[in-house]
This record gives sequence, C-alpha cells and structure tokens, in this order.
Amino acid sequence: MFCSLSRLYRGLSRPTRRTTQLIWGSFSRSLVLSSQRRIPELSSFVARTNTCGELRSSHLGQEVTLCGWIQYRRQNIFLVLRDFHGLVQVIIPQDESAASVKKILCEAPMESVVQVSGTVISRPPGQENPKMPTGEIEIKVKTAKLLNSCKKLPFEIKDFVKKTEALRLRYRYLDLRGVQMQYNLRLRSQMVMKMREYLCNLHGFVDIETPTLFKRTPGGAKEFVIPSREPGKFYSLPQSPQQFKQLLMVGGLDRYFQVARCYRDEGSRPDRQPEFTQIDIEMSFVEQTGIQSLIEGLLQYSWPSDRDPVVVPFPSMTFAEALASYGTDKPDTRFGMKIVDISDMFRNTEVGFLQDALSKPQGTIKAICIPEGEKYLKRKDIESIRKFAADHFNQEVLPIFLKTNNNWNSPVAKFIMEEQGLGLIRLLETQEEDVVLLTAGEHKKACSLLGKLRLECADLLEARGVVLRDPALFSFLWVVDFPLFFPKEENPEELETAHHPFTAPHPSDIHHLYTEPQKVRSQHYDLVLNGNEIGGGSIRIHDAELQHYILATVLKEDVKLLSHLLQALDYGAPPHGGIAIGLDRLMCLVTGAPSIRDVIAFPKSFQGHDLMSNAPDSIPPEELKPYHIQVSWPTDSETKKSSLNHPCHPES
Ligand code: ASP
Repeated sequence: MFCSLSRLYRGLSRPTRRTTQLIWGSFSRSLVLSSQRRIPELSSFVARTNTCGELRSSHLGQEVTLCGWIQYRRQNIFLVLRDFHGLVQVIIPQDESAASVKKILCEAPMESVVQVSGTVISRPPGQENPKMPTGEIEIKVKTAKLLNSCKKLPFEIKDFVKKTEALRLRYRYLDLRGVQMQYNLRLRSQMVMKMREYLCNLHGFVDIETPTLFKRTPGGAKEFVIPSREPGKFYSLPQSPQQFKQLLMVGGLDRYFQVARCYRDEGSRPDRQPEFTQIDIEMSFVEQTGIQSLIEGLLQYSWPSDRDPVVVPFPSMTFAEALASYGTDKPDTRFGMKIVDISDMFRNTEVGFLQDALSKPQGTIKAICIPEGEKYLKRKDIESIRKFAADHFNQEVLPIFLKTNNNWNSPVAKFIMEEQGLGLIRLLETQEEDVVLLTAGEHKKACSLLGKLRLECADLLEARGVVLRDPALFSFLWVVDFPLFFPKEENPEELETAHHPFTAPHPSDIHHLYTEPQKVRSQHYDLVLNGNEIGGGSIRIHDAELQHYILATVLKEDVKLLSHLLQALDYGAPPHGGIAIGLDRLMCLVTGAPSIRDVIAFPKSFQGHDLMSNAPDSIPPEELKPYHIQVSWPTDSETKKSSLNHPCHPES
C-alpha cells in the first residue's frame, strides 16, 4: 500500500508559470499517471464517468460524461472544458437535430458549469495539440446540461491574470479554481497524508484531537479570548496543544500527534496568521536525538518526489554559533557571507569608535564580506544600509571597498595599518571588488545588525542577477542549546522563557538554575529551513517540583493557572518531549509560494480579517447580553492612535 501511494505522490508535478493551458496540461498529465494505477478513483460516486484531464487516445470510441467549467469557446464550434484535472476540447454539434445542445453550449457564459455526454474521437490529422495532454482527442457531444450559469466574474480564472491579493481573498472560492492554488492545496493534502502514514502506520503514533476551548495560560503568545455565559469567565483559544499533549503522556498515550489548529493574537505579520496549523508531536521516554531523527524521517518520507531528496541527518548548530556567525537563531545556510569577529585585529586601533567599542564589556568588532559588492552595490544602497543601522540599531557601519593591490578605500582607510588590512583579507577571505561591512559594539547587537545586513545584501545582489540562494535547494538545520531564559526586553532584570515554561534545562547546566538561571542552556531545539523557523520543541520538565520552581520563582508566574499540570506531573509523569512543525510555513517553502496565505484555503488578510465574509464582525448588544459583556467603543482619538500604531496595509 505504501508503495502505490508513494507512486501516486510522485505523480503530482509542479505547475510552471507558462500559459494556463500548459499549466493545466502538466497537472493533468501527472494525475493521469496516478489514475492509471487505479489510485485514487477520481470519478466514483458522481455524475461523471471521467475527468476532463484524463482522456487520451486509449479512450477512443468510449462514451463519456464529463462535468466541468467552461474555460474557453471558439467560433461557437469548439469549447474547452476544465476540471481540477485538466482541459479537454469539446466539439459543439452544428446539425439542426442538436440545436438545443448547441444553444446550451454556445450561450452559457464562461465559467458556467456544464455536464456533457458524448464520444471520445480523434482530432482530425494536423489539428492535434501537443501542448495539451488531451490534445490528441476531442469529445463529440450528444447531450449537454447547464448545471449552473456564471455571472460576470470579478477576474478571469487564469493564473497569469494579475489581481490584487485583496481581490483574491474577497473571492477566494474563485481564486481557488486557479492552477497554482489547486496545486498548493492538493500537495499539502498529500504531504499531510504521507505524514499521517509515517507517524501512525510506520511508527505507532495515535492521532488525538485536543480542545480548542481552553483557558488562559501564562507566558507565550497573546491568546484570543472567547466569552462564556458565566459572568466574567472566558475561554481562551490555545496557542498550541502544549499542555494537552503533555497530559496525554501522563495518560499513557505515549506517542501522540495531531494536525492541530493553533491560535495566536499577535497582530499582523507577513508570515503569520492568527490561526495556523501545526503537526504537533509528543513522545514519552525520548531524548532530543530521538525527536530529531523522527522529524528527519518524517520529512524525508513525506517530501515531494519531484524535489531533490531530503538528506538526513540535518546539520546542527548551537544557538551561540548561529548568533555569532549569522546574527540570528534561524540562519539561512544556503550561502556564506558569515559574520567574522575581527576584534583581535584592532586591539591597537587608532579609530575612535572602534577603540571605544572594544573598551566596553562584551565589546567587539565584527564584519561581513559582500562578494563583488563593489560591482553590485550602488552608493545609495550603502547609504541606506548605514541609515538602517543607525535608525534600527543605533550602530555605525563602515563600508570598506577592497581595491586592486589590496588597497582599502574607506573613511578609515588611512587608519588601517598594513597588518590589519592583511589580517582582514585573511579572516574574511576577501577578494578584489568585495565590500566589507564593519561594525563595532556589544556582541549580540553587532551580530544581529550584521545578520540583518547579510540578508539585505543577499536580496540586493540577487535583485541584480547574482545567484546566491539556489531556489531548488532546501537547507535544513537544527539549532540547539538555546538558553533556557532570556532577559525581558522591557526589564532585563527579569527573565522570560526562550521557548515555553515547560522546557527542561540542559542536564549539564542544572546546577546554575538556583544561582545564575540566565546561564542555563535548555533542551530546546528549533528546525530551520532556508532561514525560516519551521519547527520547534523541547524535552519537557516532568518533575513537578522543578516545574513549580521555574514557574513561581524564576518566571514569577501565577502557578494556580497551571495547578492541573503541576498536579499531573506528581502522578507518575513519564519523561517526555516533543515538537511542532509549522505546516503552513513548511508548505509555503515547499511550493515556493510568496506567502503562507497561498497554502491556506481560506486565510485571513494581513490585518487578520476574512475579506470574503467580513469577519470579525459586530454583534448586536442584545446578543452580547448572555455573555455579560458590552463593547466600550474607542473615542475618535483612540481610533486614530491605533491606526497610527497599525499602519494600514492595503486590503482593498
Ligand atoms: N508547543 C510548542 C510550540 O507551539 C512546540 C513544542 O514545544 O512542542 O511552539
């Protein structure tokens, strides 16, 4: 069974950005391969005998009934019918006796739904269309039924027709008819199917649903609140099934997974949705390496077969290394331009701001080298890089251009001694025409800034035709050994968790927990793909006392809110750990979609609205009464302020 399903899987080929007809063509060809293997049966239980896209010369002479949308009509003689599987040409009968059939097929507007019955015949010699998988045949229609007529459309159902995202979201049901959305959603379904197969059938996982009406949990993302009929009592939508999956471990369901819907009220961000889907996993008696191997196997097994195969094990990098070399905890390892610490080269520098930086605790000098930057970066790019550094990081960035004969051209060139220059060339492996961006300051700040500039410069170089990141490359990476806590941004004296409060400390650092908790590393691991965090998890605390200490003493959370979990840990909780893979982001990367909204059937807009149904919507006061709540309407000035804080993204 696995073997045939994986063959089916192989059948779904990627649409290309050619004409619609061609795109439908390739889609159709691939699915026909699957149907020839009789898996799956695409026309069972319905009013058609075949799909539009599957018919070939091997069907010649067969009587077929097809249902589909009118894609195209020419001279009232030819009509092209479309379903999800492809396109087929239908010949509109011209003889008097078939006048009613002709009338239906000629008068129905484009995108009307029709059912036609007729015979599969070959196209006359010379009229075959090699670009169409069904291009050798056509349908000689005998009967036709207009199943539903289509009004004038807000946009044409053709992928190459440009439309704004707002319009696409407003008429999402029409947008879904396009080839790319069909492909994205069908591939998503197939990958999830393979994941289920891998987890349940190959590794004995149990698919368990957990509640979506839950209660407020401490820490983590902001939650959506749902009123209840009890005065002053609210449910919360879970940001993830974290507590439930741990409680399932206590309950002896020792290999859990769920395609779980999660909710986070985090406002608008380009790669986020207020509701999103995770492949949520938890296992008992497991260590970090066990979870990592499971996920590597899962991705390898479910990976589309027309992509380069996933190579396992994935490389791994510590959080400290990721920050030092890439300035982020989600490094894009498809290209170099790594951050290099050049502090030692400048210990005796005469340059004031470098001297100043080095005299401070944690003070460093760092640089990245932009290959051929001189050729590709314009003066205004360098200016905007420096402005970005000043505006967002309050940092100075020095551009240094390496000229022929290793001469440096920079505002500080005359202060760079020969040995420093040579040292830089060696450390950064610079070549002629490269540009070095140098900054000085506190380690984390300098790294974060250069990490951002590294990506920014990569975008700039690519916009000018340099290929830095191979679009066919999928570069997976584990980031491990995170700190257990970070200082809070607003009050660095206080700590917050780097992952979530249930993450176990690293066994070799546990002695620091009671004295210097900020030094403790955790058993938290993130999975990164091409510079995007696509998953994260941890080995959990299964000791109630330790969990209580971290919640109450380190994080200063209200433990009462989690008394059920603390209690459960005391009743023989097994050691356990897990992970969640962000399915939307993963699919976005696999399909190469520009946004996660392109792999979700009914996404929210950038501002969290459903543009089709207009949710969230108002509710009359009398309907709010049973919930004992009333709206406190913002004043005009409050409304203005909030629109300034959330500048309008073009939704319409
Ligand atoms: N619940 C975590 C999250 O949503 C993942 C995990 O620790 O399993 O990020």
